[in-house]
Amino acid sequence: MADREPLTLPRAVARLRDLHGSPQGPPTRDPFGLVLWENVAYLPSPDGRREAFEQLRRTVGTTPSAILGARRSALERVAARGILAPRVASKIRECARIALDRFGGDLSGAVAGPVGEAVRALRRFPGVGEPGAEKILLFTGRPVGLAPESNGLRVLVRLGLVRQESSYARTYAAGREAGRALPAKAAALQEAHLLLQEHGRTLCRRSAPACDRCPLAAGCLHARGLADAAPARVRSRRSAASKERG
Ligand code: SF4
Repeated sequence: MADREPLTLPRAVARLRDLHGSPQGPPTRDPFGLVLWENVAYLPSPDGRREAFEQLRRTVGTTPSAILGARRSALERVAARGILAPRVASKIRECARIALDRFGGDLSGAVAGPVGEAVRALRRFPGVGEPGAEKILLFTGRPVGLAPESNGLRVLVRLGLVRQESSYARTYAAGREAGRALPAKAAALQEAHLLLQEHGRTLCRRSAPACDRCPLAAGCLHARGLADAAPARVRSRRSAASKERG
């Protein structure tokens, strides 16, 4: 990409792919498995979350009935990959209880319907808000949108592709809108989600982003000290997009 070309989301994703390689997604596409993926440990490292999930699968199982039949100590050992293990073990059990009581132990029907209903169903689980529910749907294979999490959203804001709004919910909604620049295919959206997350975790950290090592720096408003210009850039993109849509 020539430095003078405007930075678009597809171009940013392509550069992040060159930098970070092929991102590793969650280890399951099963909706209840993805609910567990969100809840299996609190504040673990990325590797720690994967290890906790694998340990749960190996030592307990990932079905609601297996979890409800497990010893609490086994769940606490799994949750110990992060902090607050006793509380997390309770949440894992609560997830299983909800899945059994509300969905007969199988979420596949609940997530296959209209997106709004599927999101509402997933939000019954602890630790799953609207962004989390959309992310779970995305990783079941439904192309519901980019569903950026906090790291990815920070990257999008700093690049100037998303306007920082007055609340997280509104900024997230702007991130969802920005994701429409990508192909409406689950694989493409999953990859972009994971690459933005990885970039926010590694280089574009909350404090002291490593702009000197970032391949997006030339087109990044934050790196160029132009963060205040972001709303104008987003506005001009929106207006160009609405002209294109006619
Ligand atoms: S140049 Fe800096 S602020 Fe911009 S995306 Fe890269 S790390 Fe983040």
